[in-house]
Amino acid sequence: MRGNLFIVSGPAGVGKGTIVSCAMKRLGNMQFSVSCTTRKPRAGIDCEGKTYHFITEEEFLRDIETGNFLEYANVHGHLYGTRRDIVEKALKSGTDVILEIDVQGAGNVKSKMPDAVSVFIKPPSADVLRERLLKRGSENAEEQALRLKNAEEEIKHAAEYDYIVVNDDLEKAICEFINIVNKIKEEAK
Ligand code: 5GP
Repeated sequence: MRGNLFIVSGPAGVGKGTIVSCAMKRLGNMQFSVSCTTRKPRAGIDCEGKTYHFITEEEFLRDIETGNFLEYANVHGHLYGTRRDIVEKALKSGTDVILEIDVQGAGNVKSKMPDAVSVFIKPPSADVLRERLLKRGSENAEEQALRLKNAEEEIKHAAEYDYIVVNDDLEKAICEFINIVNKIKEEAK
């Protein structure tokens, strides 16, 4: 049986990475789609091949030309893309796949693969999001300001998603996400 495709989006600092990685550990048999990006790795956080494949703009443009991306987008001034072959191979082998991608990418995947299940992770409030983003300290002030500005736009798209999970309490949000995945897996049987 073909695997299920899950799309997870949410503004920077909302905790989507933590929710996805904790949920994946508990769920098992789930593959995280490692995107390609032209953004530079963050010291101490990023790991080539694990968080992203870090490629040059030239390589990225070549991959677009070749049709290697299921979707790609310019997010916060950098290019990000999902490798079509990796996602297809996993789904074909019956493995569920999670794409952690922005709202533009989510829209593109949904139009190509309407069976994909989309989940938007929302902060409890704009103030909480600002606080979390400033606290994680992985971006400089300019990058933080850009992410906060983009967050407002991104949150406007939440209603287009199949599910919305509010990350007020991390454990509760992880459980809600797991419940969504299990429900879809059950329905697909
Ligand atoms: P970051 O650089 O902070 O890890 O990610 C920035 C944004 O890019 C996040 O919203 C993340 O979900 C999005 N993103 C990561 N990979 C992809 C991808 O392959 N495609 C698209 N469209 N967005 C992505």
